[in-house]
Amino acid sequence: MSSLRAFVFPALLTALPAAPVLAAPPPSNLAEEARAVDTELVGCGTRSSLSSWTDPKRGIGCGRDVVVRRLNEIAARTGGRLQVIVDKYETSNQRTGNVPVHMENVYAVLAGTDPLRRKTAYVMSGHLDSRASDVMDAKSDAPGADDDASGVIVSILSAQAMAAKPGGYRATLVFAAVAGEEQGLLGSRRMKEWLAQQGYQVGGMITDDIVGATNGSKDRRPRVFSEGGPDGVDSPGRQMARRLDELAGPQRVRLVFRRDRFGRGGDHMPFAEAGLPALRVTEPLEVYDHQHQDVRMEKGVQYGDLIQYMDFPFVTEVAALDQLLLGELAAAPAPPKAAVLSGAVTPSAKITIEAEDDPERQGFELLQRETTDARWHVLRKVDRPGQVVLENTSTDNEYFAVRSVGKNGHRSFAVPCVAAPAPPPTAAP
Ligand SMILES: [Zn+2]
Repeated sequence: MSSLRAFVFPALLTALPAAPVLAAPPPSNLAEEARAVDTELVGCGTRSSLSSWTDPKRGIGCGRDVVVRRLNEIAARTGGRLQVIVDKYETSNQRTGNVPVHMENVYAVLAGTDPLRRKTAYVMSGHLDSRASDVMDAKSDAPGADDDASGVIVSILSAQAMAAKPGGYRATLVFAAVAGEEQGLLGSRRMKEWLAQQGYQVGGMITDDIVGATNGSKDRRPRVFSEGGPDGVDSPGRQMARRLDELAGPQRVRLVFRRDRFGRGGDHMPFAEAGLPALRVTEPLEVYDHQHQDVRMEKGVQYGDLIQYMDFPFVTEVAALDQLLLGELAAAPAPPKAAVLSGAVTPSAKITIEAEDDPERQGFELLQRETTDARWHVLRKVDRPGQVVLENTSTDNEYFAVRSVGKNGHRSFAVPCVAAPAPPPTAAP
């Protein structure tokens, strides 16, 4: 399966110079490692955010211990390049009974190697907590083998793979397991604050939530959800999703142009709502008897989020895709600061690229797509920031965007060309 993938390229990429591939297909023992972590997390009985943080045998504190121990082992094996942080905080909302409760997030930080880029963080996150049928039930078993031990496993496997990369990445990578998702995205909101307090700008964020089972689906591609922007068409998260589609190919990911599953939400939302590039990855086909359900047999039907439904090779595939995308973005130059489209009511479109200096940047690529197309095409290369005139090209009929290209061949995601802000109206007499 993985050797076949190496020979299948999406048509779009045939027009581009090949970028170096960062993430190798996962060796098969990774699936066994994923199963071992899942078994340990499920072994904590419940990981309700309202369960014990101090009991080493049962509760979310037991889950935290599993994650911290695994990440510390990885840090030791990779020469201490990975810093493991337990972030303790108090938080409240309706689903904590409106009283402040103790919670903890775990972050493994792989610092960027380039002073220009190291304050930009690319984040992948799963949620450590699980839930029973009643979200306030801290006592019943809530194995959460899939929701969301699977996302936590993706963070751990990715920390392991990426911390071992010789030479590291220009920008910083953060591998997270956050609490409080089921209580109202509390841990994710906290992580966003924490990143800002540490002086990081979020370059991109992925939440891997329910990425553990394929449930007999013929289509084994993970679904990648990204929201529309203010015009209903584009958002930074969607540009990031497109970059993944370009890198991995549409045969490995299924883009869904929605913020999340219909009527549902996840840990990417606090980031997306702040205008940051964020997306959600979820398995191809969910089975609701296995989600948010007490473990029980009813009329011959097994309910509950149990390890027997997991597909561990699929978990490793999600980890490989995350690594492919965030590895590319963390190795690439920053996306352009802005791309301004002008030239309306003239024969030629004009695009002005604004970007910070970066000696590692080779230049930019101008992208275009039909307004009805999902994917970008490369129009031309541009060497430096400033204005480009597209002779005899209407501003009206296509979308345009710009992305940065590194001397190392890695590319940022696209920044869509938008109109220059209108000048302030002159004061009425
Ligand atoms: Zn979840």
